Amino acid sequence: MKIVNLGILAHVDAGKTTVTEGLLVHSGAKKRMGRVDDGTTTTDSLSLERRRGMTIRAATVSFSWRDTKINLIDTPGHMDFIAEVERSLAVLDGVILVISGREGVQPQTRVIFEKLRAMHIPAILFINKIDRVGVSLDGVYADIRRNLTGRVVPMQCARDTGTRDARVLPLADTEGPLFDAVVESDDALLERYLNGERISPETIRRALWEGTRTGALYPAYLGAALHDVGIAPLLDAVADCFAWEAGDAPGPLCAYIYKVEWDEYDHKRAYLRVFSGALRIRSQVSHAGAEEKVYVRGLMTLGDGGFGPAGTVTAGDIGVLLDAPNVRCGDFLGEAMALPVGSPPAQPLLTVGITPDATAGRPALLNALTRMTEEDPILRLSIHPETEEISLRLYGMLQREIIQAMLLERFGVQASFSPLRTLYKEQPREAVGAQIRIGTPGNQHQAGIAFTVVPTPPGSGVSYETRVSYGDLERSFQNAVGEGAMAGLAQGLGNEIVDARVIFTDMDYSSVTSTPADYRRLAPLVVRMALEEAELRRLEPWLRFFLTAPHEHQRKVLTAINRVRAVLAAVEHGETEVRIRGEAPLDTTKEFAAELLSMTQGRGLFEASFLEYREVREDRTGDAASI
Ligand code: GDP
Ligand code: MG
Repeated sequence: MKIVNLGILAHVDAGKTTVTEGLLVHSGAKKRMGRVDDGTTTTDSLSLERRRGMTIRAATVSFSWRDTKINLIDTPGHMDFIAEVERSLAVLDGVILVISGREGVQPQTRVIFEKLRAMHIPAILFINKIDRVGVSLDGVYADIRRNLTGRVVPMQCARDTGTRDARVLPLADTEGPLFDAVVESDDALLERYLNGERISPETIRRALWEGTRTGALYPAYLGAALHDVGIAPLLDAVADCFAWEAGDAPGPLCAYIYKVEWDEYDHKRAYLRVFSGALRIRSQVSHAGAEEKVYVRGLMTLGDGGFGPAGTVTAGDIGVLLDAPNVRCGDFLGEAMALPVGSPPAQPLLTVGITPDATAGRPALLNALTRMTEEDPILRLSIHPETEEISLRLYGMLQREIIQAMLLERFGVQASFSPLRTLYKEQPREAVGAQIRIGTPGNQHQAGIAFTVVPTPPGSGVSYETRVSYGDLERSFQNAVGEGAMAGLAQGLGNEIVDARVIFTDMDYSSVTSTPADYRRLAPLVVRMALEEAELRRLEPWLRFFLTAPHEHQRKVLTAINRVRAVLAAVEHGETEVRIRGEAPLDTTKEFAAELLSMTQGRGLFEASFLEYREVREDRTGDAASI
């Protein structure tokens, strides 16, 4: 059987969930098309998603088209849920990247496209909403060429765009824009063509799909998913381009868990893709390199819009492992393999403190948050060692709102959330050293450590090096020192330390009483002591933003954007609107999207994505401003 693991990706509201409905209905997996606006789609199944008309969780559905099984992952498009998207990417054979014909390429479209390119995941473009008043296909193509890729292949033309009667027609593959784009992408073909040879449609198709699979070409389809326009050709393209003969990856088991969630009956579900071998019910499989094995108690596969019990999940397919207590998102079952590496995952830039309301109580809150962190490890639940404040890391205001709502709906826990605080980072300006010896007053550990902490170049992250020989201190002790040192950098003096290396230079050791745990506990204290000696550079996250607002609000908007310490890169004047691009600190713009909306009667748009950490300027203290 042939198989495709397909992702649907896009900026929020471009139409991913609606396209998914269209694909389900066209393939026969579903009778009637659900609507996002009525809360009746298959993949927006959480009540929160239905009420808001917005995807929060990646959802997997499956259907067949021709001789191919298509497992489809519908993803959230809002920036705040980027982690959910990134976890899914590792299991995909290909992607439909949806672009709204009305809005064109949006900030999140670019972020996603860069990730796909870095991970060598091929994509077919679907330009949606061609029924909307004001669409300009020429404009969208120009936008794609300027902001995504010049290697786009127009596959169709459209009639009556901007109306309910919009429809699409295939372009000829013997001449014209489709033909030209494919021939130009392939040197051998181009030469044959220039030599006057006739290039057959079959040759063009083969070169088109081959070029798409290797990321040399991006075919672009058109449609209006809401009105069921352009879906069938999209299905054909997915099957033609991405399908591969599954089950032909023999060998030992390797499966990757891309999602963990609890279903409505409180069963834990671990969604996984089998890359090689097979996962069998009632077998024991090794897990994430740990000693303890996982017993496969329950197994499901997907088919025709739903789930069904399964005895085996074979290579290439997606399945669900039921009720395996220890598995986490991002784990491997069987033998680990290298996943396609992209850019490092987007990190949350904000943190929020959470307090249970009197009635709920701390244990209930902690239970709920522990479970939510298993589903989304990037939240990283932590408890402050002194104040005991419970906090999570997150991406933005919408995520805060959603977590608060989920606590209440899923767990019945009412809790108050602090304003969002920016996650600053710090770096020592120069090398500093510190040591704590056995017998140093106050040292309760049977260990002695000397460290030097040195700054390293921007973007280099944190690292650890030992200059103590393994003859003097054996490996299990040295590993404990390394772990403790990294924990010390993560804690810093309140903010995480970046771009620094801890060098282990000297130690004391008592052969009778010392244990690795002594070294693991002492190491962070020595790092802390060194940092207290250092002058620290404070770094804050900066964003790249894109702002549009109607002309009549230009003056107000410019004043406001200057107030948030933005650096403007371009101010362009369209027919009715002003478009501003630039860079700004996150700390001062956390609230800007909402401010702009009220400043422009709901017509201004502020969208931003993470750029880099930069030093906080001298003229301000950089106190955690809050909203
Ligand atoms: P997602 O956020 O990418 O999943 O987008 P949705 O599928 O939730 O769609 C966002 C909004 O756009 C909803 O109100 C849809 O009804 C609407 N929409 C989706 N596709 C089309 C289309 O082809 N034409 C029009 N006019 N609206 C659409
Ligand atoms: Mg959606």
